[in-house]
Amino acid sequence: MKFQPIIGLEVHVELATKSKMFCGCSAEHFGVTPNTHTCPVCLGLPGALPVPNKKAVEWTMMLGLALGCTVNHDSKFDRKNYFYPDLAKGYQISQYDEPLCVNGEFSLSSNESKSKKIRIRRVHLEEDTGKLQHSLVNGEEVSLVDFNRSGVPLVEIVTEPDFRSIDEVDAYLKDLQKIIRYLGISQADMEKGSMRLEPSISLTEMQNAKGKMQNLPPYRVELKNINSFRFARHALEFEIKRQTQILEKGGTPVQQTRGWNETKGQTMAQREKEEANDYRYFPEPDIPPMHFTELQIEECRSQIPELPAAKKLRFMKAYALSEYDSNLLAETRGVAEYFETAAKLHGNPKEIANWIINNKINTSATVPAELVEKIVKSKKVSTFSLEEVGKIIDKIILDNPKIVADYKSGKVQVLGFLIGLLAKSLGHAPTQEQRELLERKIT
Ligand code: ZN
Ligand code: MN
Repeated sequence: MKFQPIIGLEVHVELATKSKMFCGCSAEHFGVTPNTHTCPVCLGLPGALPVPNKKAVEWTMMLGLALGCTVNHDSKFDRKNYFYPDLAKGYQISQYDEPLCVNGEFSLSSNESKSKKIRIRRVHLEEDTGKLQHSLVNGEEVSLVDFNRSGVPLVEIVTEPDFRSIDEVDAYLKDLQKIIRYLGISQADMEKGSMRLEPSISLTEMQNAKGKMQNLPPYRVELKNINSFRFARHALEFEIKRQTQILEKGGTPVQQTRGWNETKGQTMAQREKEEANDYRYFPEPDIPPMHFTELQIEECRSQIPELPAAKKLRFMKAYALSEYDSNLLAETRGVAEYFETAAKLHGNPKEIANWIINNKINTSATVPAELVEKIVKSKKVSTFSLEEVGKIIDKIILDNPKIVADYKSGKVQVLGFLIGLLAKSLGHAPTQEQRELLERKIT
């Protein structure tokens, strides 16, 4: 390909606070009877006054800090004016020139993108809009508005256009989702719409893209309506093809917003992109500006738990686990904590890791102590001598040459299958010693 993709990302995440951003209504809106969680504030009735949700402000600061941002000592809310039926006030309370957090930097954690850094331009707080529902009522096509979602706290995370491939975008999104879940500030569930993606993409000629890029392309296309990581990939792949064709003919793609249609497998023009001045931003007069002391910011930082990338490294170091295993165990905070509790009880972290990973232990259905008990029991019941087990293993190896070859070529995941076969022959889960014998024999 002679063109280099230049991609930036805007991600919106609904915070899981109990109440909404500027009123006391419940922020729960998924599967709730329409228009039951509303009040004069979130319905935008005249005279209603917004009061910011403190928790939402703190959580946004925590997320910004986790992404390496600086928290602004002075921050404020602004009105972003535009007309749409799901926005009762005629404006969205958002943040314009003094967002809560700015200038972050974030290292992608995936193997392929290691050492790749993504700059975070800003992390700001705003409110979600109502939800339009297009349906048929008495044989008539109508649009209905559900204001339960109106005023739910929404964080917007904007990167610089630092992505150079779809794989980098994918790695970032997965890392971001993991961090948000670790912080416990949102489910970041794409299907329920609590995490929404808007990539912007343009292409530049390869020779322009070398070294430090001086000029970004003279246009960019913003993609909307993407509700899964897979769709993000599809939409970007489509845009790369579409824009390449235009550029190869000597043209320049139009600067616009395009929606992804998964059924048709293509993006479609929605509107020419607005400029900031179309929104007539101005400071929200009903909410005083915010000021944060150094102490308040550090207090926020101290609430950030150990994050997945750091946890993975610590597992590798402290428990001598492989990167692959550490990554799996650090995938969610729940599994990581389960692993460490069980490891402490049992005393052999490596064995606990093996059990959780290879036996696919459902960590939400058992408590760590039960797992440890199970492991101890499994050792007692073995009536086989190591010599007998050795013979059983030899037979397994003989019967499964393909799987053993896979293991030797680096597909370590197949070990679980072989352990399963051994367990079947023994009539119980193999002990640590028996497991190690198997590993020795197939390596
Ligand atoms: Zn309300
Ligand atoms: Mn926004």
